[in-house]
Amino acid sequence: MSSASVRLLSKTKQTARIVIVGAGSAGIAAATRLLDLGFRNVLLLEAEDRIGGRVHTIPFADNVIDLGAQWCHGEQGNVVYDRVKDLNLLEVTADHYETNKLVRSNKEVITEDIAVQLKGIADNSIPDRQTELPDFEGSLGDYINKKYWIELKKLPAIDHTIAKEFLEVFHKFEASVEAADHLFEVSGKGHLEYWLCEGELLLNWKDKGYKRFLRLLMKAKEDQPEDLGVLKGHVLLNKRISEINWQGADELTLRCWNGEVITADHVICTVSLGVLKEQHEKLFVPALPAAKVRAIEGLKLGTVDKFFLEFENPPLPGDWPGFNCLWLEKDLEELRASELFWLESAFGFYPVSWQPRVLQGWIIGPHARHMETLTEEKVLEGLMWLFRKFLPFAIPQPLRMLRTQWHANPNFRGSYTFRSTYTDALRTGAWDLEAPLQDVGGRPRLQFAGEASHKHYYSTVHGAVETGWREAERLHLYYRSRTAQL
Ligand SMILES: Cc1cc2nc3c(=O)[nH]c(=O)nc-3n(C[C@H](O)[C@H](O)[C@H](O)COP(=O)(O)OP(=O)(O)OC[C@H]3O[C@@H](n4cnc5c(N)ncnc54)[C@H](O)[C@@H]3O)c2cc1C
Repeated sequence: MSSASVRLLSKTKQTARIVIVGAGSAGIAAATRLLDLGFRNVLLLEAEDRIGGRVHTIPFADNVIDLGAQWCHGEQGNVVYDRVKDLNLLEVTADHYETNKLVRSNKEVITEDIAVQLKGIADNSIPDRQTELPDFEGSLGDYINKKYWIELKKLPAIDHTIAKEFLEVFHKFEASVEAADHLFEVSGKGHLEYWLCEGELLLNWKDKGYKRFLRLLMKAKEDQPEDLGVLKGHVLLNKRISEINWQGADELTLRCWNGEVITADHVICTVSLGVLKEQHEKLFVPALPAAKVRAIEGLKLGTVDKFFLEFENPPLPGDWPGFNCLWLEKDLEELRASELFWLESAFGFYPVSWQPRVLQGWIIGPHARHMETLTEEKVLEGLMWLFRKFLPFAIPQPLRMLRTQWHANPNFRGSYTFRSTYTDALRTGAWDLEAPLQDVGGRPRLQFAGEASHKHYYSTVHGAVETGWREAERLHLYYRSRTAQL
């Protein structure tokens, strides 16, 4: 037996060195679970100067806002909900995302009656998807269009021009749910791989933000914002890993951007699919196996960004629970020819729970990526122009505006993942991303976690957390079965 094999076989839960790359939801879940399971030598390396990743709660206006994850999506089978359900931390979000106004670019507000009917026919396709999509060969966009126009025939009184404008905005909204650039790249079948947790889908974190959940996982003291709870001494910030060398069968070597080298017996990589797509060829030495590369290339992630505008007083009239922008064709043509073209994908603006003076907007796709490159002044100028163009009342200048840049940030390179028609074509999926790289004795060496690697709850925090736990359990099982053999 080689000396390396002897060394590795002598490792125990107390001595095995586990390095987790990325301190987002998956990394924090993996680290806390490993410590719970009796592992001692656990180190989280995080590129940013903060933990949380795509959970990023910051102080703003009257309390906090979430730049990334904002809602706990569903109750049944949701590990986030399970953890907090008795703590009175969550609240059902007001129905702004259903009752919002539909406004055209000539300031015409669609009547309540028509708006309800249009939203109804769009939503009607959702339950049918479960039964119809498994055999549907096209994209989610094709499916929705087909259903929409069939349903619309049943409502002859509705003006087709308005119906078309609404369909456009419905596409943008649904694309934001998927984080796709457009719905024609979302796989119809693949869309069903995602499981909705039953129960309320938009549970907000009141004045605490999503960060509260991660702090609970870490058992961090609520009155001490800097406290890392059980992760104290296990986290290194500003440690961007530029190379993970998993050659051979012995220890793995990680190189930080500043040249520092860290060794490990096991590495759990939780970086986003966006980072993997951009970096995998350089990040892993030797190159990853073909199936893993296929998963990285085949799975997709897009850009969803948010705007937050803080005003002196609530900016919308009391009977305005937010609004969607419906573009008249001639206005859209003009917009597309102007430098404000990116506003085409800023599709909706809504109030924020527990923040009466804040208006939140959403933008998706290539236009979001373009917006990220503009200065804040230019972005605000654009948004104010949009408000003037659409709204039949004046919106005052905000006190402050903030926008997210999830794609421009090299530690994320996008928002969250979905299954595309390309994923189908490559016959790949989360299972290929999840598969650990292990040695011939079945010892996991390089493991993968993170939302993209969840087969059913990808794109969510509860999914990311489950993947972190999954990889912690994998190591636990390995050490337990080894002890049993000895
Ligand atoms: C705008 C937006 C809205 C969202 N809304 C919701 C929502 O309402 N509800 C919901 O459930 N989910 C939502 N999500 C999705 C959710 O935030 C993610 O699925 C989840 O947080 C992902 O966690 P993760 O640990 O997989 O990845 P991440 O949070 O991305 O963690 C990975 C970590 O790795 C670090 N990293 C990257 N590269 C390196 C490197 N080379 N070296 C070291 N560290 C590195 C990153 O900085 C990051 O901290 C939203 C996301 C966004 C962007």
